[in-house]
Amino acid sequence: MSHYVDEVINDLKTRYYWEKEFLQAAEEVLNSLKLVVDKNPKYKKYKILERIVEPERIICFRVPWQDDKGEYHINRGYRVQFNSAIGPYKGGLRFHPSVNLSVLKFLGFEQIFKNSLTTLPMGGGKGGSDFDPRGKSDDEVMRFCQSFMNELFRHIGPDTDVPAGDIGVGGREIGYLFGQYKKLVNEFTGVLTGKGIKWGGSLIRPEATGFGVTYFAQEVLKTIGTDFKGKKVAISGFGNVAWGAVTKITELGGKVVTLSGPDGFIHDPDGVSGEKIDYMIEMRNSGRDKVQDYADKFKVKFEAGKRPWSIPVDVAIPCATQNELDIDDAKQLVKNGVKCVVEAANMPCTLDAVKYFIDNNIPFGPAKAANAGGVATSGLEMTQNSMRLSWTREEVDAKLHQIMISIHDACQYYAKEYGCPGNLVNGANIAGFIKVADAMIDQGLV
Ligand code: GLU
Repeated sequence: MSHYVDEVINDLKTRYYWEKEFLQAAEEVLNSLKLVVDKNPKYKKYKILERIVEPERIICFRVPWQDDKGEYHINRGYRVQFNSAIGPYKGGLRFHPSVNLSVLKFLGFEQIFKNSLTTLPMGGGKGGSDFDPRGKSDDEVMRFCQSFMNELFRHIGPDTDVPAGDIGVGGREIGYLFGQYKKLVNEFTGVLTGKGIKWGGSLIRPEATGFGVTYFAQEVLKTIGTDFKGKKVAISGFGNVAWGAVTKITELGGKVVTLSGPDGFIHDPDGVSGEKIDYMIEMRNSGRDKVQDYADKFKVKFEAGKRPWSIPVDVAIPCATQNELDIDDAKQLVKNGVKCVVEAANMPCTLDAVKYFIDNNIPFGPAKAANAGGVATSGLEMTQNSMRLSWTREEVDAKLHQIMISIHDACQYYAKEYGCPGNLVNGANIAGFIKVADAMIDQGLV
């Protein structure tokens, strides 16, 4: 007899066969839940799996805008409002040419469980556009953001749906989006997070994902009796998440020896520290999207078109984007003696790479747990907005640190409880799922 979980996976594969990224994310989560649904028949009775894989609502819209030369352009805009069982929809907006419904459904689905793990009351959502901010002027980005918000504002609100940033959406974009929202609804509310510090943003929010990943990795390292001191770390990407991670890892005595971009990776055996960390921000703001600039400036090795996973390191933290670390990379890392792998981007490791790490007893921190510090600090920004006050850096950082420890503890606890001690992938999926699923049952068939 086929298993309830397999039936749901097969149904999804037939119905949404072209949604490659979404199917990958759904399959990973659902497979972890076999143990849970076997123990708790109520989830099958109430058809929780069939319901949880279907977004509550998807909004697709046209985003017309004009470039500096006066030419018209049309992009596609989306918001996937996936699940609101435990709070208003919450999740970022991604502006990148690779954005489509499959990518946003995968991100929105992950966000449900990630947000549940944060211990804060936030549902799951995600949105964005196939607009490419690269090479656009500030005015073009502003016009695009205003046009995007001209439709999105109808569907969001501080108690309905609270978007934030993601790839291609940083402080500048959040500013333009917030300005247009405020003009349209004539209200100053905490509707977006990642806001500027002078107008409702939270301290530590820009650093939060990277800091959170590092705090999570620190807990993982503790379980194998060690810490970051003197450890060599491979990082991919050089954006916001990578910057936060490099900053905190360096502070804790680790040495980050790689960064990467769409053009290749750099190897800096002396470690990315001091002014080199500040240069990461300069590189990002230049909009060139080329990590080779780092190699040219600091005279280190640049490998064009390659990923950084061939460099022997103790810890690997992929910070760039989905599926950037595959089975061959995983084999190479294990061969080179990696001690732990922690995902900072969303779903950066392919399913077979994750399986390889787990089969080889490499402690592995999945994204939805390890990178939840970003959205958790967004949750703290929402709290501060509701209270109409601002916490200090130290207060926010202490809360973030505590949340990351709680997430790690929850993953360990549920992994053990369901018979797979140390398997943080299962632990994260199960811990995130149970809270949302029970809330869905409590609230009836809606
Ligand atoms: N885009 C981030 C994530 O993937 C943050 C979302 C948020 O702050 O709402 O979790």
